[in-house]
Parts: sequence; C-alpha cells; structure tokens
Amino acid sequence: MKIHEYQAKELFRKYDIPVPTGVSCTNVEAAEKIAKDMQFPVAVKAQIHAGGRGKGGGVKIAKNMDELKSAADAILGMQLVTAQTGPEGRLVKTLLLEQGVNIKKELYLSILSDRDTASIMIIASLEGGMNIEEVAAKTPEKIVKVSVNPLSGIKGYHIVSVVTGLGLTGTVGKEFGRLLKKLYTLFVDYDCSLVEINPLVITEEEGVIALDAKMDIDSNAMYRHPDVAEMHDPNEDDPIEAEAEKYNLNYINLDGNVGNMVNGAGLAMATMDIIKQAGAEPANFLDVGGGANEEMVENGFRIILSDPKVKGILINIFGGILRCDVLAKGVVEAAKKVQLDVPVVVRMEGTNAEEGRRILDESEMKLIPALDLSDAASKVAEIVND
Ligand code: ADP
Ligand code: MG
Repeated sequence: MKIHEYQAKELFRKYDIPVPTGVSCTNVEAAEKIAKDMQFPVAVKAQIHAGGRGKGGGVKIAKNMDELKSAADAILGMQLVTAQTGPEGRLVKTLLLEQGVNIKKELYLSILSDRDTASIMIIASLEGGMNIEEVAAKTPEKIVKVSVNPLSGIKGYHIVSVVTGLGLTGTVGKEFGRLLKKLYTLFVDYDCSLVEINPLVITEEEGVIALDAKMDIDSNAMYRHPDVAEMHDPNEDDPIEAEAEKYNLNYINLDGNVGNMVNGAGLAMATMDIIKQAGAEPANFLDVGGGANEEMVENGFRIILSDPKVKGILINIFGGILRCDVLAKGVVEAAKKVQLDVPVVVRMEGTNAEEGRRILDESEMKLIPALDLSDAASKVAEIVND
C-alpha cells in the first residue's frame, strides 16, 4: 500500500529522520492560514501517489503570500499528469505546505526488497533529484548499491560502504550514515517493500534533510500497522480494483483489451503471457480462486465488463476439484444474468471437460469453446484485433 508524502514524513519524524516542517491541507483558505506561521519561501506540494510531480507542475516554491495563494489555487483541483500517472493524470485533493530549504546538493537514497538477490538493497547516488531515471540509464556507475542480508540486518560496514561509495566525508558523511541507519529500521519495522528519498538534500548549512518521501508498505502486513491502515486514501484507488475487492476477487487493472478470468494466480500469469504471445494485450489480471462457482464467475463478468476497454474475454479454468460441466453451467447462467454483450472464449480442461464444452456450444450466449490454451489465445486475439 502506498501512502502520501506528508504521511511518510510523519513516520520519518517518528524515527528522527530530518524532514522540513510542514502541514497538509485541502483548501486555499487553510493554506493561507498555515503559511502565516511559516517563513517564506514555502514549498507548495501536490499530494498524489505518484512521483514526477515537480516536472508536472505539482510542486511550486512560493516567495510570498500572493505566490502561495496562486500556487495553492493552481495545484488544488488540478488533474496532475506526471510520467507516472498515465495520460489521464490524478486529481489533486491535498497539499503539503513545507518550509523551503536552501539546497546545496540533491542526493538519492532508497531501500527496497530485491527479489533478484533475495536481500534488502540500499541504492544511493550523489546525482539525485528530478532526473534520477536519466542518471540510472546513462551513467549507472554513479549509482551505489549495497545489499544487506535481511537476517543479520544492517551493520556498520554497510553504512561505510554507502558513505564512502558516494564520497561523503566529515559532518555530512556522519549525518548521512545516521539517517541511513534510521531509515533501514523504519523499512524493517513497517514491512516496507520500498522507502525512497529523492531528493535527500545537503543544505547550505551542511544539514542532511529528506525533501521527498515515498513509502510502499506490504498490504499483507497491514494488520500489524493500524496507524498505516488509517492513512489509506480511497481517492487514490483504482475504482474497478476497489469494486473487485468488495467481491473478494484478486483483480488488477491493466492497459490492454482482453479481459481474462482464470482460477489460480499462476495460471492467470501464464494466461496473460500467452495472450501477449498471440498478439493481444490483457486488460486485467483476475484470479477468481480455486472454487470458481457461478457467483464468482458472475462477479468476475461484472468487474471485467465495467472496464470499457474490454473487447473480448478469455476464461481459462482448470477443473480439478471443480467439475467443468458445473463450471460451464455457471458460466452460461452468469452470462445471462449480466447480459453479456462481448464475445467470450472459454478454455476448460480437467474433469468432465467434454461435457462442459457441449454445454457452452448449446447455449445461446456468445460463448466460444477453445480446444486448448493456445487455441483460446489466438481466438480471442483475432476477436479484439478485428
Ligand atoms: P517529485 O519527486 O514528485 O517531483 P519532490 O518532492 O521531489 O517531488 O519535489 C521536486 C523538487 O522540488 C525537488 O527535487 C526539490 O528541488 C524541490 N523541492 C521540494 N520540496 C522542497 C522544499 N521543501 N524546499 C525547497 N525545494 C523543494
Ligand atoms: Mg522526488
């Protein structure tokens, strides 16, 4: 689960990680009131769950009250488009007003769980700020990576490796090291998959301060962190994903136009791969679970059909405990109930598969039986690419 910058900074404060003073608000009047107690310049920052806000016009530095009012007015309510939001952008409902900081240098620092090395990876660079992606692509030698064994945890030598790798010395090196250790503790305590500070700045006064804060916390660990669960912002949820959660469906919205409904997460991944191989793009990931009864299929249809991009649906069910004839009847009934109006290709394998296919064939719905998975993928690709 992602949280907003201002919320992540609250957690940073709890761990004694230096951040500028700042207050969040949701309207211009409140912004004005807050700014009266602050010293200019003040940073006015859009709070959305996506980075790249600076480049998209979502971060402005106000030098006086007039500039602050116009910045707050411009950013609140804007549909902020950044490299990470997609072309539709994100509606800004919350602002963070923050003390402007005298920046001498912008660094990059993140900690993430790295699957490739099965370790916790610390990534840092002296060339932080809004062009970090370019630095990573063009000059990867400017990025320092140190992996930490999660069982033994962070040690002095990890910190020394990062600090010397960056070439930091003196007070700044010490401050950076202290901050890194606290950030690591926060990362582990909160079951994070990512904490990122970009930029982590060295100020003119030789302080080290986190100017940005991004945290992604493992949703499966939310029961251990009620304080984070409370930070959930429904405005940031994908509306179809939120609906699917109500039905207990494991659904993720994607960009393509083939809706697919599968029992089992592994089979769903394989199905998405084979759809791509057949020259089409999946519109979603949807695991209806091992049972896949009529009700689940009906809910699955409703969710998939609420996505206007979908031009064809592929159902891929492996009937083990679940008999294919029972499933086929369920699919036909569900299709009738939701008034299915897009073509559906069904691939079933397992117990009573023949009988299942016959039921689909004889129904009056637009249900197209497939012989096997590659047949199913090419049939649905043909439909959506027509
Ligand atoms: P994003 O990563 O979404 O673009 P940031 O929080 O990193 O948003 O802000 C973008 C840029 O704005 C930073 O790289 C920094 O130069 C500037 N900035 C952000 N907060 C402050 C602040 N409190 N004082 C001065 N400059 C800031
Ligand atoms: Mg940033």
